Amino acid sequence: MTTPRLFIVIPCYNEQEVLPITAPMFLEKLKSLAQAGKISEDSRVLFVNDGSKDRTWEIISDLAKADEHYIGISQSRNRGHQNAVLAGLMEAKDKCDITISIDCDGQDDINAMDQMVDAYLDGCQVVYGVRSSRETDTFFKRATAQGFYKFLALMGAEVVYNHADYRLISSRVLQEFANFKEVNLFLRGLIPLVGFKSTSVSYSRAERLAGESHYPLKKMIALAVDGITSLSVKPLRLITGFGVFVAIVSFIGVLWAIITALLGKTVAGWASTTCIVCFVSGVQLICLGIIGEYIGKIYMETKQRPRYIISERTWEQD
Ligand code: UDP
Ligand code: MG
Repeated sequence: MTTPRLFIVIPCYNEQEVLPITAPMFLEKLKSLAQAGKISEDSRVLFVNDGSKDRTWEIISDLAKADEHYIGISQSRNRGHQNAVLAGLMEAKDKCDITISIDCDGQDDINAMDQMVDAYLDGCQVVYGVRSSRETDTFFKRATAQGFYKFLALMGAEVVYNHADYRLISSRVLQEFANFKEVNLFLRGLIPLVGFKSTSVSYSRAERLAGESHYPLKKMIALAVDGITSLSVKPLRLITGFGVFVAIVSFIGVLWAIITALLGKTVAGWASTTCIVCFVSGVQLICLGIIGEYIGKIYMETKQRPRYIISERTWEQD
């Protein structure tokens, strides 16, 4: 195998404070990996400017002028972290052999890249960066982040625990991933769906080197809702379950109404009204659930995800 060409893909949104600090760190890493003979000399640090309103793009342009290892693309407007990463990955997929996506704030330990590349050289196509500890996060951030993963799992959206968007993906996998045309992006949930041999490396997450987080609780909740609704139809299925539950309770309610009526402890008309209310609400919820099942199917069909992906053949392909 020839030494792979690596693109480090870095989304940047209003990062003028931190970029001048972290950019040289990424370049250092790139050079040390190349020196160790793990990646080729023509590897690149690819910045994706996500419609920043500050000097971020100017900084990226200046970096690109100063060193050919820095390159940058700019989105026409802010489209959010996930789309910025996707833009970078899609830009890189035909130009390199492997990509590593990482945030530009220095929170993710760049030294994990060595292990990631090693894992790739060992035959893994996807390597997930997993946080080993969250000691540097505030208690609130830690608790909400953990709740985020648990809730996602509960709702049927399978994601790698404590893995954000720091990962190595080979261009081979990206070619297949390009066939996932859905607009609502949740990379963490989608990449595992593509398959191929994968592994994870752990690293400890540090504090932001400068600037502020763009992921307050509000955005985390939005991301969780996005993740769930774009990966799973479980919420719809819950309606059916709830309907069955209400139907059972209603049945008990009906029995109770009849018995009280027979015992003559009620006013006229009460039992029949109660029976109808209980019965109809149970039936309604079950019907909604059934409709939900079909809507879920339609939803999944509209995504037109690939039905299969072949990873290996016994014969050589050109
Ligand atoms: N980011 C982006 N577009 C956005 C918000 C964030 O490209 O709309 C980038 C940001 O520049 C950073 C990464 O996504 O490189 C993660 O954001 P941040 O560090 O603010 O999130 P946190 O680490 O606090 O969850
Ligand atoms: Mg961060």
